[in-house]
Amino acid sequence: MTAPRIAIVGAGPAGLYTADALLKKRPDAKIDVYDRLFAPYGLVRYGVAPDHQGTKAVTRVFDRLLSKGNPRFLGGVALGRDIALAELQAHYHALVLAIGCPVDRVLDLPGENLPGVFTSSRFVGWYNAHPDHADGAIDLADVRRAVVVGNGNVAIDVARILAKTAGELAASDLHAPARTALAAHGIEEIVIIGRRGPMEAGFTNAELSELGRLAEASPVVDAADLPETIGDVPEAIRRVKEANLATLRGFLNAEPKRRRIRFLFHRTPLGFTGGERLEGIRLRCPEGGEETLACALAVTCIGYRASPPPDIPFDHATGIVPNVAGRVSPGLYVVGWAKRGPSGVIPTNRADGIAVADLVLADLDQRPAPEEADLAETLNRRGVGIITWDDWARTDKHEIASAEAGAPRKKRTSVHHG
Ligand code: NAP
Repeated sequence: MTAPRIAIVGAGPAGLYTADALLKKRPDAKIDVYDRLFAPYGLVRYGVAPDHQGTKAVTRVFDRLLSKGNPRFLGGVALGRDIALAELQAHYHALVLAIGCPVDRVLDLPGENLPGVFTSSRFVGWYNAHPDHADGAIDLADVRRAVVVGNGNVAIDVARILAKTAGELAASDLHAPARTALAAHGIEEIVIIGRRGPMEAGFTNAELSELGRLAEASPVVDAADLPETIGDVPEAIRRVKEANLATLRGFLNAEPKRRRIRFLFHRTPLGFTGGERLEGIRLRCPEGGEETLACALAVTCIGYRASPPPDIPFDHATGIVPNVAGRVSPGLYVVGWAKRGPSGVIPTNRADGIAVADLVLADLDQRPAPEEADLAETLNRRGVGIITWDDWARTDKHEIASAEAGAPRKKRTSVHHG
């Protein structure tokens, strides 16, 4: 077979690890990586918390890969808007969708659309300068109590970002307006609400423990919520549960500080109250009955689902693109969150990418020869403003050069021309 041509849609970790794995096994492959945004890295840039710069260091691996020109980065090109699925399929031997899970799951409760209630992608997108969310201002000035719904790592990230001082956030790559709002707010209490108990929580121990080491915020836990033992849990999660229980026990002795991060377990949200804006959250209590907790900010961190264009299969119940080990149909594959749902950490996508790359390569012999034309030229003729690797590299340099003292970069929400 001639050199295989493979398109990957999505320049996040799943897409880039897949490209890397494909090239390691087939160095003759020609790979195009499309992304609707101007910047590569997906969730590493727009999901990973801005104060977790160590996790973002993986971008150096992706830079080495993309700077070689193969894979070729084609930013600013959206599947379904600028390019159709059929067009991609006609031009490549194989197409891998690494399109993530960009849509928030919702509670579907009264008051969820009140001003002051935000989904996690909206709130995280704001402080991470995601082009879809960075322009809308979020006013924290009158907030005294914030609630964060959910017991996963995203909930912990949001609570920690709200709890940190300006000094603690100085070395982050927070979006500039978010940095200003976070430095000035007067939030006294952040309440993390779980509908189940501490042993059912999804957060991992590194993230939970970090809440005990903040400069001006201390974690608060009700001793009655903590079980004597972790109980009967599968071996695979035993260590994290033991560590979480020990950490939460340690929080019982935390020294009180100016700001509190309070864990409220076994509370099911029933709705949000307020007139013109959010005033409280209604919760079902463990012993029955309900309580209303006054708050002026609520962030729901309850998971995500994929959102493929209509010509791509989608399972509404699971929120993913239906697939068997990554194969949707011969020649069409899915990897990362769109394949397995919103779970795991960045390195989980490396193993996922390697496995899907093997599947793509195993099917290649049966794939018909695609059209020879270079789709980038077709897109240029159509007036689609492709962002090239050089465009991104220039923007990256500009972001780094314009960073405030101590910060790694000042994030832009569009490509830098200059
Ligand atoms: P997650 O771990 O699945 O947590 C979602 C939370 O939402 C769960 O506590 C869930 O409770 C709760 N929830 C769902 N529906 C609800 C409802 N209707 N009412 C109340 N609560 C509801 O997901 P995530 O926090 O979005 O994180 C996604 C993935 O990214 C995870 O794998 C996470 O570890 C990863 N991540 C990692 C890091 C890191 O490593 N630092 C940071 C951020 C994210 P139930 O358990 O009861 O369903």
